[in-house]
Amino acid sequence: MSDTPEPRVFLVGAGPGDPGLLTLRAAELLARADLVLYDQLVPRRVLDFANPAAELVCVRDLPGQHPDKYPHIHARLIEAARAGKAVVRLKGGDPLVFGRGGEEAEALRQAGVGYEIVPGVTAALAAAAYLDVPLTHRRHASAVALVTGHELPNKPGNRLDWQALAKFPGTLAIYMGIARLPLIVAELLRHGKDPDTPSAIVERASTGDMRTVYAPLRGLEAARRHAGLEAPGLILIGEVVDQRAARSWAEKRPLFGRRVLVTRPRHQAGPMLRRLELLGAVPYLLPAVEVRDPADFGPLDRALGEVRAGGWDWLVFTSANGVHGLVRRLRHLGRDLRDLGGVKLAAIGPKTAEALRQYHLEADVVPPATFSSEGLAAALAKAVDGRRVLLARANRGRDLLRQELAKAARVEQVTVYEQADAVDPDAEALAALRRGEVEFVTLSSSNVARALVGAFDETIQGRVLRGEVKLVAISPETGKAVRELGLPVAAEAEVFTADGLIDAVVRLVRGGGQA
Ligand code: SAH
Repeated sequence: MSDTPEPRVFLVGAGPGDPGLLTLRAAELLARADLVLYDQLVPRRVLDFANPAAELVCVRDLPGQHPDKYPHIHARLIEAARAGKAVVRLKGGDPLVFGRGGEEAEALRQAGVGYEIVPGVTAALAAAAYLDVPLTHRRHASAVALVTGHELPNKPGNRLDWQALAKFPGTLAIYMGIARLPLIVAELLRHGKDPDTPSAIVERASTGDMRTVYAPLRGLEAARRHAGLEAPGLILIGEVVDQRAARSWAEKRPLFGRRVLVTRPRHQAGPMLRRLELLGAVPYLLPAVEVRDPADFGPLDRALGEVRAGGWDWLVFTSANGVHGLVRRLRHLGRDLRDLGGVKLAAIGPKTAEALRQYHLEADVVPPATFSSEGLAAALAKAVDGRRVLLARANRGRDLLRQELAKAARVEQVTVYEQADAVDPDAEALAALRRGEVEFVTLSSSNVARALVGAFDETIQGRVLRGEVKLVAISPETGKAVRELGLPVAAEAEVFTADGLIDAVVRLVRGGGQA
């Protein structure tokens, strides 16, 4: 045998649900994968870390029914590795805990394909952390057992020794056991486990969607049925379950379990989705508008030439998209930031200023508080008096800024990017709105509001009118757009940014009512 072959296949744990629980190694590998072969249970948001050029394949879409799929999975891994691809085999939790990662590694060894294994946060650890249950405890549990509940306890050939498990001096964490819960409980009791042993079931641990029941072992199945918990879920049995906090830190987060729709373009939605997750919410994404290049770059190219030649005193940005679009075009023309050396820069708010900063440009003016056309016009009024002002903006939007500045300055606008309505009528998030699953809809601009409300059918409108779905607007301007469409606004942000929008949702939940 020669040296170990260079790894081509990476058996990677995706963690239990929260994308923040992905390891750095997993994120690194996902970012440069050519093929990501993932299990159905892998958290959807983790796939956002994948190289945009990677092929994403769910094992569900490979031939064969479980468990006949395995030869197909192995064949696909080996074939892709031999074709020189970097392959990430992504599994929920940890790949070697009830994940059949061992079998895949063996198939790769036999084929002479090099591999690496990247551990992940397994469900039992996530359940313990998010339920605030110490898996081990100096007085109550000196061991933890990870157990599969998938094997029939009372069948011959069963590899589990339920007598030993009933006597086990620690915490039992039972995976895949919900469907057989009555049998599992009966076996443990039959072998002498205390019927009053504190126990829990948790579904979707680590997500905002987490649901939990607690009961003594003998009452666990009744409690499960009563709460309507279904597989997949994890069962924890042991004295440590009673050592938990009354309500876990995760359940105390301000938006825990709240379903919130984000409507920004996909490429800008990440930070909002993440902050919602961290607040305990269940975020949904339905991009209502999309951003693309202008159909005609002529006017922008001319304007950039004039800026270089000193034809403009001020360059005013009303969005981060405008900043990125303009710099991208400059680079495309073979020019660079020195062309902006002689012009003063203004930004409508902190995010736009932040976009400038990414290019080491510091805005000369950012409104102190009101991040809107009004605020920017007020902040600029004095500075632009008698000057030449170029507004770099989208193809559509309000005219207010131009009108206000034109009172004292020579103003022109140039289209740096185009915005178009983008609500996909078949989107899963729209169906979730229709089913009444989503409680809050965040509207990040007037255009977003118009595009989204335009896609509402009668069912959704009815839910909004009855207050079951609450529309939250980023600014009074966006609120006005919603009211003009005949729908009520539940709250408006106080600070007109994505963070301000989320703060408004938090205030609503806390009972602050109208913002
Ligand atoms: N490799 C995975 C386990 C795969 S078996 C891991 O290490 O976690 C699938 C079982 O894992 C499910 O039936 C359920 O019992 C458990 N599970 C996985 N993720 C879970 C989660 N977020 N919350 C609760 N249980 C989970």
